[in-house]
Amino acid sequence: MNVDLVTPEVSVVIPVFNERDSLSPLLERCLAALRNMPSSFELIFIDDGSRDGSREMLTDAAGKHHEVVAILLNRNYGQHAAIMAGFAKTRGDLIVTLDADLQNPPEEIPRLVATMKEGYDVVGTIRKDRADSAFRRIASWTVNRTVQMATGVLMSDYGCMLRAYSRPVVDAMLQCHERSTFLPVLANSFAGQTTEIEVTHAAREAGESKYSFWRLITLNFDLVTSMTKFPLRILTVGGTVAALCGFGAAIVLMGLRLFYGSEWAGGGVFTVFAGLFFLIGAIFVALGLVGEYVGRIYDDVRARPRYFIEEIIGSSENSNSPAATKDVAHASLARTEGA
Ligand code: UDP
Ligand code: MG
Repeated sequence: MNVDLVTPEVSVVIPVFNERDSLSPLLERCLAALRNMPSSFELIFIDDGSRDGSREMLTDAAGKHHEVVAILLNRNYGQHAAIMAGFAKTRGDLIVTLDADLQNPPEEIPRLVATMKEGYDVVGTIRKDRADSAFRRIASWTVNRTVQMATGVLMSDYGCMLRAYSRPVVDAMLQCHERSTFLPVLANSFAGQTTEIEVTHAAREAGESKYSFWRLITLNFDLVTSMTKFPLRILTVGGTVAALCGFGAAIVLMGLRLFYGSEWAGGGVFTVFAGLFFLIGAIFVALGLVGEYVGRIYDDVRARPRYFIEEIIGSSENSNSPAATKDVAHASLARTEGA
């Protein structure tokens, strides 16, 4: 029997961007953990435009192991777009994502799968003894609190990518055409039953984090703008309150001026200026925020493909065949039409 033709039960999706030094141990540990599971599986790596030899290593691995598929994107599109490219090729009923840098131990996958089989749509994870810098931890804490407040969905850790999704949730995510997505939050908007389990977390051993300060800011804006219009509402309400206060203050100042004379009003000018500067600052923040939304709307209106697949190795569909090429063209066309 050709093993490739059997539909696997579990699909594991791992985005890779310049992770040369982690790849060998990652592959070994993943295969060991997954082969110990009673379920059949496929291991999908997406190379997100690496330039350090990761591509070649993944191509090799896909040739050697029949469970491994390597999807090579033609350039760097970002972690979440890469995962989407992987999702589009998954065949399993259960889909697990994790990072390639071994911060998420592959040995936890069977536990995630077992929890999913209890009937959940999404299983998130909470990082026990999180091994990241204080700055990253504070950033995550702020993000998690904001998401909880804005969505009312109570998951305590959205930052950890070691997560499991059911087939319908992944299919629903694949139908979302917006470019700026933050997958864990997107998944929750389609999930009925969700839960979280505690997993261990390791420090990054090789290479460095792919998220610079600016990329983190972009990611966090993606997260906020993709899930809620709440900040825009705060702007409207805040603006109204500020305008009313300004109007009230103007009346009071005019009244007092009549009462105390113009001498007094001259002294009050600075108070007015202070208030004015505050409001001008607030307006800039507000404009920036509106700009974040408008920029994303612009991206979505242009509806460029989220990623472009150069080659797929190790899949039952051979990427070099005309059918597969058509599939890629088809996918981008569908996206254009859908947006
Ligand atoms: N990654 C990616 N494309 C990118 C940035 C990151 O595929 O543009 C992958 C990276 O290889 C890793 C995962 O996403 O597998 C998480 O990245 P990283 O460990 O740098 O993030 P952190 O743990 O610092 O949040
Ligand atoms: Mg990491």
